[in-house]
Amino acid sequence: LLPIGVAMGGFMAAGVVWLSRRRLSLSGELAIAIRNREFCVHYQPLIELRTGRCVGAEALVRWQLADGSYVKPDLFIPVAEETGQIVQITEQVIAAVGRDLGAALAADRTLHVAINLSARDLEGERLLGLLDDLTRRGIEPRQVWLEVTERGFVDDGAPRAWLDKARAAGYVVAIDDFGTGYSSLSYLQKLPIDALKIDKSFVDTVGLETVTACVAPHIIELAKELRFMIVAEGVETQAQADYLLAHGVHYAQGWLYAKAMPVEEFLVFANT
Ligand code: C2E
Ligand code: CA
Ligand code: CA
Ligand code: CA
Repeated sequence: LLPIGVAMGGFMAAGVVWLSRRRLSLSGELAIAIRNREFCVHYQPLIELRTGRCVGAEALVRWQLADGSYVKPDLFIPVAEETGQIVQITEQVIAAVGRDLGAALAADRTLHVAINLSARDLEGERLLGLLDDLTRRGIEPRQVWLEVTERGFVDDGAPRAWLDKARAAGYVVAIDDFGTGYSSLSYLQKLPIDALKIDKSFVDTVGLETVTACVAPHIIELAKELRFMIVAEGVETQAQADYLLAHGVHYAQGWLYAKAMPVEEFLVFANT
């Protein structure tokens, strides 16, 4: 019998080796996928709660395999963020948004598209240049929302300056997954943001008699005071939608309305 510490150490070392080998191969596969442009975008409708109208979509990346199936982003985005490959994936997402929605957004100024950015995207001029290419397709900057998680705001360095520049150019900046990260509520008012997305984990508690159920109303009140646009994500029930509307949330997205879908389906959805 081995002493427990040695046994555990051996087990953990094996685990780390397994993990890093897997990561290595996934990042290798990602490199090939990036070269072959295997990423596409699905669109999840955003609904104005007051009217029930579709006002746009969130662009959600999909990795399309040769057999036509899709790999969900949760499986590869964390690795791509670690290796820096996320920046090349974001470039492909922005290009796809331009191709997919350029004409529709130019034809209807009340529609917008939300694009997810990672902290590593918020450096240099290249992505800002690609976003400006969207305006060459007739999209206005105010029709493009940039979703950044709280991690993107933790320091006052490069990401903050990047976001200030994006906002000065007219893009709308939204804080994503709000409530799950670092920031205290008082810190919120110092951030360069226009909109706030309430994370699904809080939407899930709406109307329940639990301690965490107290958080959502506080977030909503504060966001209203700071005059942010408020989006609730992961809305699955009519009761949640009713509550959010009654408390002044502007937009909602979730399976109650629609899942993410290919652009052809989204364009039909948006017109009905
Ligand atoms: P997110 O930004 O919080 O996006 C919302 C996720 O919740 C999406 O998963 C969406 O399909 C899912 N969802 C929406 N409504 C509902 C609902 O009512 N119920 C449930 N159970 N789920 C719902 P998805 O598409 O798998 O994306 C997962 C995450 O991957 C995203 O979370 C985002 O953080 C990241 N991601 C997706 N696309 C991109 C991208 O282009 N760039 C970056 N950097 N990250 C991305
Ligand atoms: Ca998002
Ligand atoms: Ca989110
Ligand atoms: Ca989320």
